[in-house]
Amino acid sequence: MIFFKTEKHQRTITIKKDVRDGILSYCKMNHPNECILVLRGKSRKGKILVDGLVIPPFFHTGPTFAGFPHSFLPFDTSYVGTVHSHPSGVAKPSVTDLHNFFGFVSIIIQSPYEDGDVFAYDRDGNLLEVTISSDQS
Ligand SMILES: [Zn+2]
Repeated sequence: MIFFKTEKHQRTITIKKDVRDGILSYCKMNHPNECILVLRGKSRKGKILVDGLVIPPFFHTGPTFAGFPHSFLPFDTSYVGTVHSHPSGVAKPSVTDLHNFFGFVSIIIQSPYEDGDVFAYDRDGNLLEVTISSDQS
């Protein structure tokens, strides 16, 4: 019997606690509209660290879709993905979300935007494990 070693990189994502808190309060501020933010950080061998946020220029928002034209973003390799809110309270990525995938990870925050309402997805819509880091360094 042959055992195949799975070569698929299981991506993991770590978000700094102050960044996570910033995302949650931004979502609450914009409720009941969706909001979107760009994630800054690092990605190495499938491990993604989110350590900063950027408010995208010219973003448009509404109760069902938040987006921004990617072409307005300056080329910056420190952008690892985006985060947006789902005021409906269901964190499942929509077809539009997957079409507008940017970077390595798409984080969705579902209403009511508490600590347990943070979900991260890869390009294929697979749920990733999220770790919150309280490391202040
Ligand atoms: Zn969405």
